[in-house]
Amino acid sequence: CGIAACMLKNGKAAPILLGCVKRLEYRGYDSVGIATLDSSIIVEKDKGKIKDFEKYLDLSKLPGRIGLGHVRWATHGPPTKENAHPHLDCEGKIAVVHNGIISNYEELKDELKSEGHKFTSETDTEVIAHLIEKYKNDGHDLEEAVKRALKRLKGSYAMAVISSDEPDKIIGARKENPLIVAKGDSGYFLASDIPAILEHARNVIFLEDNEMVIIDDTGHQIKDLEGKIKKKE
Ligand code: GLU
Repeated sequence: CGIAACMLKNGKAAPILLGCVKRLEYRGYDSVGIATLDSSIIVEKDKGKIKDFEKYLDLSKLPGRIGLGHVRWATHGPPTKENAHPHLDCEGKIAVVHNGIISNYEELKDELKSEGHKFTSETDTEVIAHLIEKYKNDGHDLEEAVKRALKRLKGSYAMAVISSDEPDKIIGARKENPLIVAKGDSGYFLASDIPAILEHARNVIFLEDNEMVIIDDTGHQIKDLEGKIKKKE
């Protein structure tokens, strides 16, 4: 029901992301999860409340200045640990958080399964990670693979994606669900709404439908799904 992502200049993403998802709590949720990227992707997630999750979550297990956070309001698949976000591809090299509903996920899942992809959840969201993986395996870089995946999706989404193959990058995209990009002194943030990131950043851009944002150490770029750069204040 809410997503967050950050790429810090220094320091650890995990405690910051935990703070962001806490401020998304008011939207209602049944599960919580965080993924960070150091040399590989590390995921901690579960059903239940953030305050319980926090009790047994060992933040020191989540190194890395880049990461994703999620609070889930289950639409496809019951609230379980397996169905909580972030979701990964087969090799655990791509992580995705998603808010919304992928309405054609069943046909995409059938296609991906027939190509050998193994699924570990009952969510609609997991197809996104495997679709990106499929296009990466075809030889495309992360940005191109995400773009190709987005073109296959029907329904609604706000999402954020990271990959250990391109470890200094976050890609976000939206269609019919809100997503903001924010830049602060400590780094870049993506979130479903402003309260999630207000204490970290005050320069905010609202993404529009069918736009994606690519954030790396050189800055951010907003593009449409044809790859055309969009200038936004
Ligand atoms: N449809 C996705 C799921 O059931 C995302 C739900 C949400 O927006 O939290 O996992």
